Amino acid sequence: MAAKKGARRQASGKAAKKAPASARRPKLTVDAAHAARLYDDLARHYPDAHCALDHRDAFELLVATILSAQCTDKRVNMVTPVLFAKYPDARSLAAAAQEDVEEIIRSTGFFRNKAQNIIAMAGALVDRHGGEVPREMDALTALPGVGRKTANVVLGNAFGRNEGIVVDTHVSRLSQRLGLTRETDPVKIESALVPLFPRERWTMLSHLLIEHGRQICDARKPRCGDCPIAALCPSSLA
Ligand code: SF4
Repeated sequence: MAAKKGARRQASGKAAKKAPASARRPKLTVDAAHAARLYDDLARHYPDAHCALDHRDAFELLVATILSAQCTDKRVNMVTPVLFAKYPDARSLAAAAQEDVEEIIRSTGFFRNKAQNIIAMAGALVDRHGGEVPREMDALTALPGVGRKTANVVLGNAFGRNEGIVVDTHVSRLSQRLGLTRETDPVKIESALVPLFPRERWTMLSHLLIEHGRQICDARKPRCGDCPIAALCPSSLA
């Protein structure tokens, strides 16, 4: 009986403790007008947001994106000039000795896997696409080591095709803090973002969120007091 009374008190909220801030879930703001204001404010604030991986063509961007897994773009940009000086296209990379590639990309981490992947990917480009990078999502994701995120990066930035939205760790965190979704799986986050933003904004949306994540909305210490979109953010601590 006592247990029942306790349960009733909890249900009525009298005895329930307030959840700590870290456990509160931001209110969902899933309407396109709100999303448009967010985008416009971010675009005003980060007019130079762009793909941070240095590249001259789709092949270089594809390789750089594979190397960027679990690694900073800055670090990748330090190794790719050496890599592309030696292997400027799919044919030369496909014929490379794995140990030589490993040596060049070592500092990007997971270098054995990455070397194996980029050599196999280059081989598949030669075998299936005449050495060129395909412009279709299905063909790209069928390449060794290429997932949807990498394909979205290449399609959006090398070919100007908005086929999807790149969801990396920044986009994932920001989408949740901004109340755009409660999903945690990147593919589900992408599905939640797609209907909120016009297609022509998809590629830039990722750049803007990534830039904001790097500059202000840090994973551990978001600087809400300096945040240009705090008024639109349900997680604001300002
Ligand atoms: S108000 Fe804070 S949590 Fe929200 S986007 Fe800005 S920095 Fe991030």
